[in-house]
Amino acid sequence: MIPYPVDYVRATSVAHALAMLAGDSEAKLLAGGHSLIPIMKLRLASTPLLIDIGRLPELRGIEIHSDHIAIGAATTHAELGDHLRLSELSPLIRIAADVIADPTVRNRGTLGGSLVNADPSADWPAVMLALDARMEVRGVNGTREVPADAFFVGLMSSAVRQDEILTRILIPLPGPDRVAYRKFRHPASGYAVAAAAVALRYAGNSCTGGTIGMTGVAETAFRAHAAEAELSRGFTGSAEDIARLVETAFDGVTPLEDGFADGAYRMQLAKVMLSRALTDAVRES
Ligand SMILES: Cc1cc2nc3c(=O)[nH]c(=O)nc-3n(C[C@H](O)[C@H](O)[C@H](O)COP(=O)(O)OP(=O)(O)OC[C@H]3O[C@@H](n4cnc5c(N)ncnc54)[C@H](O)[C@@H]3O)c2cc1C
Repeated sequence: MIPYPVDYVRATSVAHALAMLAGDSEAKLLAGGHSLIPIMKLRLASTPLLIDIGRLPELRGIEIHSDHIAIGAATTHAELGDHLRLSELSPLIRIAADVIADPTVRNRGTLGGSLVNADPSADWPAVMLALDARMEVRGVNGTREVPADAFFVGLMSSAVRQDEILTRILIPLPGPDRVAYRKFRHPASGYAVAAAAVALRYAGNSCTGGTIGMTGVAETAFRAHAAEAELSRGFTGSAEDIARLVETAFDGVTPLEDGFADGAYRMQLAKVMLSRALTDAVRES
């Protein structure tokens, strides 16, 4: 279909984009366009003004610092998957980048666009939750940081307000000792019907704790806090420990339902993905 009429401006800087956002409360940012353009073509979204931030150098790139990694919000999925030093320091990022959609989407879609879009079946939210990332958000009045755990506030809704821009994603270093990502792909789109990102910390051969990000299951990606608590209570990685932990992970979670997966099936898939991700992570050394 054809979208409603729209003006297009390529921003020359983050400050320029923020000024344009402040001047039009219905303006929308455009990064890779692989979520926004399809829904505009379906006329499920419209805007009088598209502000293109996808090529701004200040929003692109990967910086490695002593205690964190800083990723520009407009860095593409493919750039994340291809960055060798990033893969060494944070292998979970490469693993996830490689299973997003197909090369066309990976070459255009951006980390920031995916996170702000907050699709309940997107991959990056689970990964950024498991890595305990912080989101740097800039507005005309300054910059604030939002922890990943407080970033996904509802269905297709993030903590970034209409007049703000997600500028960088900050990932603490050193990263976890063992990681894994397991995803049950929707056969048509590649999105997660259910997926689990697991990050474990070890002292010698003993697991001392970890983080678990889930996506695809509920209306927002979420941290499985109750299950994480089990990880620091003498978790050995045995099949019995994993089964017990998985049973605690989804208390109080209302599963999504759609034409592909009803709630019971989706919940079962979520448990299997988490169980497999934990098994993979425990085996990694
Ligand atoms: C066929 C297909 C298959 C896909 N499969 C998968 C998949 O398997 N897994 C997966 O995770 N995703 C998948 N996607 C989604 C893809 O990864 C998108 O690229 C991504 O979700 C959005 O990124 P984008 O840069 O394209 O954002 P855009 O479409 O440009 O923007 C999305 C939203 O975020 C806002 N926005 C963008 N950047 C910023 C910013 N820096 N600050 C504030 N707001 C911002 C925009 O205003 C818009 O509302 C798929 C998409 C397609 C078309």
